[in-house]
Amino acid sequence: AAFADAPYLQCLNDEQRAAVLATEGPVLVLAGAGTGKTRALTTRLAHLLFAGKARPWQILAVTFTNKAAREMKERVGALIGQGRGGVEGMQWLGTFHSIGAQILRRHAELVGLRPSFAIIDADDQARLAKQAIEAAGLDEKRWTGRGLAAMIDGWKNRGLTPDKVPASEAHHFADGRAIALYAAYQARLKTLNAADFGDLLVHNLTIFQNRPDVLADYQNRFRYMLVDEYQDTNVAQYLWLRLLAQKHRNICCVGDDDQSIYGWRGAEVENILRFEKDFPGATVIRLERNYRSTPAILAAASGLISANRARLGKTLWTEREDGEPVRLRGVWDGEEEARVVADDIEAEQMKGRPLSDMAVLVRASFQMRAFEERFNAIGVPYKVVGGPRFYEREETRDALAYLRLIRSADDDLSFERVVNKPRRGLGEKALQTLHRIARDAGVSLAAAGRLALETDDLTAAARKALARFLDDLDRWARDARDMPPADIAELVLEESGYIDMWKTSKSAQADSKLDNLKELVQAASEFDALEGYLDHVALVSELNESSVDGQVWLMTLHAAKGLEFPVVFLPGWEEGIFPSQRALDEKGEAALEEERRLAYVGVTRAKESCRISFAANRQIFGRWQNAIPSRFIDELPEDAVDVVSEPGLYGAAARNFARRSAFDGARIDEDAYYDNPGWRRARAAKARAARPPLIEGRAATVSVSAPGKSRFSVGQRVFHQ
Ligand code: ATP
Ligand code: MG
Repeated sequence: AAFADAPYLQCLNDEQRAAVLATEGPVLVLAGAGTGKTRALTTRLAHLLFAGKARPWQILAVTFTNKAAREMKERVGALIGQGRGGVEGMQWLGTFHSIGAQILRRHAELVGLRPSFAIIDADDQARLAKQAIEAAGLDEKRWTGRGLAAMIDGWKNRGLTPDKVPASEAHHFADGRAIALYAAYQARLKTLNAADFGDLLVHNLTIFQNRPDVLADYQNRFRYMLVDEYQDTNVAQYLWLRLLAQKHRNICCVGDDDQSIYGWRGAEVENILRFEKDFPGATVIRLERNYRSTPAILAAASGLISANRARLGKTLWTEREDGEPVRLRGVWDGEEEARVVADDIEAEQMKGRPLSDMAVLVRASFQMRAFEERFNAIGVPYKVVGGPRFYEREETRDALAYLRLIRSADDDLSFERVVNKPRRGLGEKALQTLHRIARDAGVSLAAAGRLALETDDLTAAARKALARFLDDLDRWARDARDMPPADIAELVLEESGYIDMWKTSKSAQADSKLDNLKELVQAASEFDALEGYLDHVALVSELNESSVDGQVWLMTLHAAKGLEFPVVFLPGWEEGIFPSQRALDEKGEAALEEERRLAYVGVTRAKESCRISFAANRQIFGRWQNAIPSRFIDELPEDAVDVVSEPGLYGAAARNFARRSAFDGARIDEDAYYDNPGWRRARAAKARAARPPLIEGRAATVSVSAPGKSRFSVGQRVFHQ
């Protein structure tokens, strides 16, 4: 090919180069972790532009996270430069959600929305679902809003609008009325001029179906389509891709079936198999050389994933030198785990490793707290990704509600949220009056407010407060027309008294909330229009997903997909945490295999060092439990793993370790093993009580008396705070 010696192709291997140069027709790259799929995809994007195959706005590129989208932009920018003809023109590079939202904004009226529609989050979604259940007169205790919202999500993941849901699927929920509730929920969203996450794509599908001309327009536009992390697409996303690709058929998907970790959100690995069927003659390329990790890490990951039966199977090899073995460490409890990890991080830092080279990847976000506390205590800066989403925090949601109201005063969800926040004397009662007027007149709450001012349904004080609030909204909306989003945000948060509310608050979290508000305003400064900013915030999990050198990463395994770090910590490998209790409760192997793929994703994030840990005691939702090491630990090949045990592992946990060959090195004190619940409780209480007075460098003995047993010591460990 003419471009075979282009400089950007030199840093690829033959198979990767083939994936880049096979520009015409469908291509599927199926390969294991760290084999350079994303690199090949990025280079393909650059190549398409460089070779003049397409203009930037004629390429659709789907990444799984916003972070990945930004990284791809950066990499392409470095390869082909900035400017309209370069990376800046790449307006269709983003996540399924962000691209779906963009398309929907352009055609909102085709599904009964206005272009200014709000994107609601899981919380609002559950609230609306609950309202639908109430309105239908169903037992709200029995049928929860969350339950209904989850069902609706499930249908949306499969691209099903209420009229398309098979009747047979509704029987077990709400006396068979689930589909009607789904329809009511959609009608309510329409009135509110709002869309949930699932709608972003489902509405796209509806538009494409009803308006062949619109579909044809996009089909013509997208000459080339690129999809990363293809194994995690759900049916709706698949249908969306298939429709859009039909004209040019130049679609390149890259993925790894072993990294499919979103089955619980409707992702279907079968999409990989369907690809070859739906796109006959597709070029399938396999990459086998791993460039990311040391042989020990690869061996651990391969050994682990080989326990899964449902896989396509593939080989991985590397030319890298042997590195350190995967380190496996048992500790006393979650607190100790956080301390040990933090110590390791500090030790690495002393050796000159930047903090941002290290990541702690947890299975569930509740695990983060112990690490955050420890990092705070010893002053290690860290960056949380994918925990409680930034925009799910109270202050973020409040601030956004203000901004949404400015965009559209008819946004009832937002109106309700901030009409009395800070307190304006417009409490529950006033709101009920507004709701009644709104219902009777068939108008929004803001409009009902204006009507209420003409009546004496409200007290004089409430009327005055309401008049002022409505005036404020008007004025802000006028101001907003020619102000950058950051200035609007600042103005509104100041003038509404919202900032003051937190400044005078005695809440322990007030300071961090004020910081978050600052970050929110700061992030707005990157946008020219309020619209773009609001979409951005609704769709990202963090405003600032990039870390500077001075921060350790702390994130969930799900959020870590596609990323890599020199040093990775994987804490909490215990039955019930990882694999999760939910997966263990489920019948059949599917859920467990998904957990195992998640473990595989975790291990393969590491380039040089992977450190797995588990605790003998774990406090879950306030209760202490004896933890059993994860079955995944057993599945790690012995010669790739080095066991580091703490002198402090006794009792039931030690017994458990002893049963496992991986744990030959652990010191075991048989005497300390009593399978007695009373003793366990006593030990837990004692261990808790013994903690506070521990002083740096001092040895402390934690001892307990077990009922009916002689007094003994459970361990002597050196604590430091
Ligand atoms: P994952 O499955 O985790 O998403 P991936 O297959 O997308 O992994 P990449 O992230 O693209 O893999 O690449 C893994 C690492 O290997 C990156 O650091 C990348 O820069 C490097 N790499 C990829 N291809 C090559 C190559 N041909 N030569 C040298 N390094 C490479
Ligand atoms: Mg990748």
